[in-house]
Amino acid sequence: MTDCIFCKIVAGDIPSSKVYEDDDFLAFHDIAPKADTHLLVIPKQHIVNLNDLADEHGALMGKLMLTLPKIAADQGLQGFRTITNTGVEGGQEVFHMHFHILGGSTLPGF
Ligand code: 5GP
Ligand code: ZN
Repeated sequence: MTDCIFCKIVAGDIPSSKVYEDDDFLAFHDIAPKADTHLLVIPKQHIVNLNDLADEHGALMGKLMLTLPKIAADQGLQGFRTITNTGVEGGQEVFHMHFHILGGSTLPGF
């Protein structure tokens, strides 16, 4: 999508501090970190959020679940919190699906 910030990051049109990339996903530091380490993991393809998923995304989402802890481990995180906000009521501000990885110190209770 041409007006999507995260699609522009995937395309390299907006800079990001990338920490991981493969054929399907990109991970980079959040521009306004809410924890010592705050990463965003996004699919390269434009998917709006969890409500936008269809059966065809099953393998991609499975791979994502396996990739998240690898990215966290690469960053030296022993434990971490994963959040994905879905829709306006869920607090989503960027409408390209992303998983937050938060960690780096013991996080407050949720
Ligand atoms: P949401 O509220 O949609 O779950 O989270 C969106 C996140 O994207 C926020 O934590 C915000 O700081 C981050 N963000 C928004 N624009 C940019 C950007 O241009 N670059 C990076 N690295 N993060 C961004
Ligand atoms: Zn997008």
